[in-house]
Formats: sequence, C-alpha cells, structure tokens
Amino acid sequence: MTVAITVSKEDYLKAILEAESEGQTVISATLAHWLKVSAPAVSMALRRLKRDGFVEVRADGVIRLSTEGREAAYRTALRHHLIERMLSELFGMPWYEVHDEAERLEHAVSPAFEALLMKKLGEKGTCPHGNAVLPESPERRLRRGVRALADAAEGARYTVTSLYERDPKLLRFLHQTGIEPGGAVQVLRRNYDQTVAIETSLGQFTVGPAAAEKVQVKRTPETARGARRSR
Ligand SMILES: [Zn+2]
Repeated sequence: MTVAITVSKEDYLKAILEAESEGQTVISATLAHWLKVSAPAVSMALRRLKRDGFVEVRADGVIRLSTEGREAAYRTALRHHLIERMLSELFGMPWYEVHDEAERLEHAVSPAFEALLMKKLGEKGTCPHGNAVLPESPERRLRRGVRALADAAEGARYTVTSLYERDPKLLRFLHQTGIEPGGAVQVLRRNYDQTVAIETSLGQFTVGPAAAEKVQVKRTPETARGARRSR
C-alpha cells in the first residue's frame, strides 16, 4: 500500500490544469478519476473553489479555471516538477518513486525555495518521467512523432520519451518490464487481444493496453540502433 496523500485545493487546481493541457474537457468525473476521490468529495471541493474564485462551473458541468486559479495551479505544477527533478537529479531517487514524494513536498515549497530550485535546475528540462511542467495533448505529441506504445508499429524500435506519472503502481510495473524514460523498446508483435509483445533491456514481456496506452515512444533513428543489441 502507498501512503495516502491528502487531496488539497492545490491538487484540484493542478489536476484541472493538467487535464486541460492534455486536451480533456474537465468535468467533475474527470477529477474524481484523476484524483481517485469520490463524486461527493469533488462536489464539495468544487463548491469551495467556486466560492473562493478559483474556478467557474458552467451550466453543462464543464469546469474552467479563473485567472487566479490558473496561476495557483501552474505554481503547484511547477513546484511538483522542480521537486521531482531535485529528488532525481540531486539525490538520485529512482524515477518510479519520485512522484508520490513530490506530491507531498510540493505544498511545502516557499517562493524563496522555488527560486533556488529554478536557479539550480532551470524551468525548461523534463522531469524523471520525461514530462514538462504541463502535459502535452496527444495531437501535439503526434506532431513531434511521439505516440503511445499501444499504437506503435510491429517490428519497429522505439525510445521511450515519457510515462504517465500519476499512477505509482503503473510506474513500478513499467520499471519491472524495463520500460523507462530514454530506454529502448522493440515491438515484437501486436496481438489480437490488444496486448503488445515487446523486448526491452530486461528481456521480453507482454504488455496490455492499460499500460501500453500510458507509455509514449518515438521511433529510434537507424544510426542509433547499433548501440543496443538485443540479447
Ligand atoms: Zn514527473
């Protein structure tokens, strides 16, 4: 079991902003799913956020951030990003463990500490899961030649660009199959049952759609192939 994380106002705002930048229409069910909380809990939180001027809820149920809400959401997302990078780049914490730790620490970062982290790490880099401060929409990813492993071509070799980081169990599973940011994956076979047989540095595995849809990959250029031999 993972340690329960208290879902705060900042978490709601950050989830709305992240879901938006992934190209999703945000309704209360989106938040219940993203934050793994009950529908009544979401309604209660939304009432409070509305009262405090952070969000607007349209008549059709679509949730929009106010300018103030957007600003607060971005701050939290940036702090999450910086803490993940600090844990990984400065302290060597494994990439499949940093997300939960950052979920806790992001709320304790003062503006002065944020400025120090920014100076040390820079705002532009990617986190240990390969993500920028805010996630990209699938359309934007495709324009960069990045697609989900679930849609990758049979026989082709790919480099993992990023992973969906909100699910610690998924991250541990990916770690055990050798799927990691920057790692190599060859698609051996796409099966009828939507699973994909792959080969990574750890060997051969079969991965189902629940995981394969959450791994982003890019074709490895021909020239880079000699570097990694299959065993
Ligand atoms: Zn991350």
